[in-house]
Amino acid sequence: MVAGAVTVTFAGSGDAFGSGGRYQACVHVRPPGGAPPVLLDCGATSLAALRRCGLDPGEIAAVFVSHLHGDHFGGIPFLILNGQFAGRVSPLTVIGPPGTARRLPELMEGMFPGSSGVRRRFAVEVAELRPGAAVTAAGVRAEGFAADHPSGPDGPALALRLILGGPAGDTVIGYTGDTAWTDALVDVAAGADLLIAEAYYRDKVVPYHLRHADLVAHAGQLASRRIVLTHMSADMLDHLDQARFETAADGLVLRV
Ligand SMILES: [Zn+2]
Ligand SMILES: [Zn+2]
Repeated sequence: MVAGAVTVTFAGSGDAFGSGGRYQACVHVRPPGGAPPVLLDCGATSLAALRRCGLDPGEIAAVFVSHLHGDHFGGIPFLILNGQFAGRVSPLTVIGPPGTARRLPELMEGMFPGSSGVRRRFAVEVAELRPGAAVTAAGVRAEGFAADHPSGPDGPALALRLILGGPAGDTVIGYTGDTAWTDALVDVAAGADLLIAEAYYRDKVVPYHLRHADLVAHAGQLASRRIVLTHMSADMLDHLDQARFETAADGLVLRV
């Protein structure tokens, strides 16, 4: 791993409800060597979030979706339609948990009737990723882990590991998505260069979400080089000075 190999931009670091004025989940990952960028999640506000950072939605080659909630995949219809109207020709791959191939067209039809079946100049491929499986898209390998966060009838939400090859070796980015604490996160973090971790509340008990207190309690098991917190509620954002880990903000750029 060489510093500067992979550029990670937190275009959106917020929760579903705009806490702190932040955009919904959207992490832009640019591989080394001029390969096209990919997204980790694409919440409903993501096109605004990307443009705010000066990032071109049209060059995104793949979106890796942790789960099928609007603040994590609600921006994909806008991404696809933007490509359609901007003359995009390069393919877009969407990788998500079981149910993505059904839920994405349903979402598009709900938002823009007729949009899911339209002929476009670029292909939109959808691949479903199950816990324990892996898929490669746009040159990035993604491994799926079962998260504890109900988001539909088709299967579990995912925590993800992205593996990006480069001249100096692999860079590994772990991402919890939204989840209650699960020991699968130990595997997501193991040996990662960066773990992007939800920290929804400090210590208030909220089902199916990670708290700062959970991450503190399990810090010894999270063997990543670096941990950055995201998806924070107002309760967490109001106490950032007490955070025991680095915290994301919209526009934060990391080189890992
Ligand atoms: Zn969620
Ligand atoms: Zn969420």
